[in-house]
Amino acid sequence: MGKDYYNTLGVNKSASQDEIKKAFRKKAHEYHPDKTGGDEAKFKEVNEAYQVLGNSQKKSQYDQFGSTFDQAQAGGGFANGFSGFTNGFSSGGVKVDFDDLGEMFGGIGDIFGFSGGSKNKRRQSGSDIQVALTIEFSEAVFGVEKEISLQKHIVCDHCDGNLAEPGTKIETCKTCNGTGRVTKIQRTILGNMQMQAVCDACSGEGKTYAQKCKKCHGSGIIMDNSKIKIKIPAGIDNNEVIRVSGHGEAGERGAQAGDLYIKINVRKSDKFKRDGYDIRSSIFISFAQAAMGDKINVETIDGDVKLKIPAGTQSSTIFKLRGKGISRLRSSGRGDHFVEVKVKIPDSLNRKQKQLLKELNL
Ligand SMILES: [Zn+2]
Ligand SMILES: [Zn+2]
Repeated sequence: MGKDYYNTLGVNKSASQDEIKKAFRKKAHEYHPDKTGGDEAKFKEVNEAYQVLGNSQKKSQYDQFGSTFDQAQAGGGFANGFSGFTNGFSSGGVKVDFDDLGEMFGGIGDIFGFSGGSKNKRRQSGSDIQVALTIEFSEAVFGVEKEISLQKHIVCDHCDGNLAEPGTKIETCKTCNGTGRVTKIQRTILGNMQMQAVCDACSGEGKTYAQKCKKCHGSGIIMDNSKIKIKIPAGIDNNEVIRVSGHGEAGERGAQAGDLYIKINVRKSDKFKRDGYDIRSSIFISFAQAAMGDKINVETIDGDVKLKIPAGTQSSTIFKLRGKGISRLRSSGRGDHFVEVKVKIPDSLNRKQKQLLKELNL
């Protein structure tokens, strides 16, 4: 099975990329053809080994399949690689599951020039759906239940997703005996591979139908306007996304449904500003209230709350109303409400007011 690159470089299989590089440099130096006592053939071998082992992706391919895989690729062109290597491999008989290979190499069907693999026919789960939903500030604060309607694929209600016209026969596929897969021998650059392919007779279903459902034509899904109730948790913020698992598009032929993603837009409030889980607002008091102190009403998300203004309060003083903020999402407790007190300076005074203020001599 090909060349032993590890032996060529004198490293073992568990060698790190650093160790491989060091070993290559040492050997390359030793065999360099420009050197007296150099060896061009060995130098080339060392180079070839390093081209593979020095590249972690090629190395893992080599570890699995030996040197030929990489040579075939490096051979520049699939046709050459294929004819050049079939002989050496006809007795190889590597058993490879096609799906695994597809994931490893990102679609091996393309590399090998046949794409009838199971990957294309593998049952796809339904698509995800993304929608935006606008809610009021108070709904975000306290949570709300909303009903949204979606035009989407749902499981066919005529056949209940069984794909067969009700009352007609469903039989086990005789070609694959219900497994949905057949074993094929495929000649490839890796040699003769035994491969699992999707059964053509039943498209991998494992079943055959005397008559497919008339409503969904055997897809198991239909387009429908469906309503769904969404619980929006208290404390959700603008731009947050809620994922409702399994409420996306239904999958064809019994495949899993996609998910529904709801992006929340929260309308602004003219009274409150949100700052994380805290609320910020402002309120005006008179000069007299600021100077002598008072008890005032402050509007919070829970309604009015009494706030004591101490005598001598300066404008722009911020008071904290503990626990009057927003409920924390996926946690307990609430934020606070910070209210900024602004002292209102009258913008016009009559003669008597002016006289009195002068007499106060503040
Ligand atoms: Zn079959
Ligand atoms: Zn149907």
